[in-house]
Amino acid sequence: MLKITKFGGSSVADAGQFRKVKDIIESDPARRFVVVSAAGRKGPKDNKVTDLLYLCHAHIEYHVDYLPLFQLIEERFLEIKRELGLSTPIEAELKQMETRLPELSLDELVSRGEYFTAKLMADFLGFPFVDAKDVISMRYDGSFNYEDTSERLKGILAGCKQFVIPGFYGSTPDGRIRVMTRGGSDITGSILARCLHADVYENWTDVSGFLMADPRIVKNPKNIERITYSELRELSYMGASVLHEDAVFPIRKCNIPIHILNTNRPQDPGTIIMDSIENDPSDSLITGIAGKKDFVAVEIYQKHMSNAVGVIRRALSVFEKYNVSVEHIPSGIDSFSVVVQGSDVRSNIYDILSEIRETVKPDDIRLVEGIALIATVGRNMSARPGTSGRLFAALGNSGVNIRMIAQGSDEINIIVGVENKDFEKAISIIYKNFMEEEEQLQS
Ligand code: ASP
Repeated sequence: MLKITKFGGSSVADAGQFRKVKDIIESDPARRFVVVSAAGRKGPKDNKVTDLLYLCHAHIEYHVDYLPLFQLIEERFLEIKRELGLSTPIEAELKQMETRLPELSLDELVSRGEYFTAKLMADFLGFPFVDAKDVISMRYDGSFNYEDTSERLKGILAGCKQFVIPGFYGSTPDGRIRVMTRGGSDITGSILARCLHADVYENWTDVSGFLMADPRIVKNPKNIERITYSELRELSYMGASVLHEDAVFPIRKCNIPIHILNTNRPQDPGTIIMDSIENDPSDSLITGIAGKKDFVAVEIYQKHMSNAVGVIRRALSVFEKYNVSVEHIPSGIDSFSVVVQGSDVRSNIYDILSEIRETVKPDDIRLVEGIALIATVGRNMSARPGTSGRLFAALGNSGVNIRMIAQGSDEINIIVGVENKDFEKAISIIYKNFMEEEEQLQS
């Protein structure tokens, strides 16, 4: 059994968190390869080391004194070292970095958060340190070279059977350090899981996986035990985000499970994410409910529209011109709506409307604001007739007016648009309706 373990910034924020990581690693011999983010926030008023490093670069660029800021960063690492009684000689490296700061590229500078955190963690765990620049091979366009990475790993594994590696960066063919997008350590873990053929990729963070609904809306929602990548996309897109979106790509085809776990509550079961999950009769009908407020619908009416060609395309071209991403296009015979995020059109909605009037020449055009979209997601829904009927009946019986309905062609979600004021109520009703039946079935 081989597990890749990745610890997020909050899991390595201070000496206390380092100790938790050590307990987790030592409790399972399958946890041999450890990826770390840079030390994150210790508390709400604290800063992430990576944010401070970006800030440090901005100071250098704008000729503002950066040394006090850099010394703050140095102190974060030195404090962990002191408190854990470590011996890894980072002081000299930090001092050398301090003198070279203005010469460093932005990527190299911000990658040092992960670099020093990994050095300290390697010392603390008694594992070798392996530099991500010697392992994660990136092309000039930022894509990953898995073949080269696998080759490099083979070489490294000839000399060691376990290691700690910094997340978030790799190197391009010219040997330069290149960082990924923010939160990229999740991707490093995923690349290693793929190239080392891991059985599981454990992603340790500060939440115990995903809940079926927002606990601020539903009291004690159940934990999601298993979820597919596609279901997660539907839910994260609507607002629930724990994992970097791109972390699924390297391992999706190999169907290596990602297990989201909580460093502060390692006893919790967490959530397992997989590409495909075999149908299990004990699985819930729905996997989760998520939603977001403040969408806007532009309703376009045109007599005999169904016989005309290109009407929807012309309307969409206006949104494209304004660089607005379209969420849904529910349509009828002589009308359709274009649903977009309110924040995306706040400054230019009236320009968009007048341009649609000009290009489409509709009979009527209306703007509906304050729409909340709620996605009810479940891979088992498509096989069960009557699911949507139940959902709509539950909302209707409780007096929630449904303004819009949409469903993806994979039938793993049902999206309803309700008024902002009904958002919380609608989520509670959907959860209650589906979970009560579930509980009855189980008892
Ligand atoms: N430290 C980087 C960031 O804050 C990468 C990561 O945490 O995964 O975005």
